[in-house]
Amino acid sequence: MPSMTLPLIMEERPLLPTRPSPHERDGRQPSEPTGRPHPGQRVGTEVLRRVVDAEIGPRGVGAIYQNVDGAFEVLAAVRDPEQATGLLRRRAGWALIVKDVLQPGSEPFAIGSVWTTSDHLVREAPAAVGGQCSKCGGWFEGWSGGVCDACKQGPRA
Ligand SMILES: [Zn+2]
Repeated sequence: MPSMTLPLIMEERPLLPTRPSPHERDGRQPSEPTGRPHPGQRVGTEVLRRVVDAEIGPRGVGAIYQNVDGAFEVLAAVRDPEQATGLLRRRAGWALIVKDVLQPGSEPFAIGSVWTTSDHLVREAPAAVGGQCSKCGGWFEGWSGGVCDACKQGPRA
């Protein structure tokens, strides 16, 4: 009988394209104008990120998914634990802001339910929510693409 619980690390699920984290949005770093990726430096953060990725599943911003409760469009993904905890009013590491697409005009609301086999992706999140560096191949959320700052600055030194 197939288990309904998701393993934390899913080795069989194809991983998302590698995303170095140019801007960690955990509020502990001063924000830099643009990202300078240093993949592999923050191992703990990276592991946590993979767990969160597995729990969120394919529900990127712009994705629409369906389950027994209805069909929902993902408006925002909150990966800041403090903010997520505030949104869900319980301890949480992440939250999604979704809108019920079957009920036009309904208020967006926060959810923190883990992606399971009873959820079905109706529409994939558009790929255009980020950009890939044409030099190092790094993928950055909310970036229009081109050559990232690290690649622009790096080799000249
Ligand atoms: Zn680059």
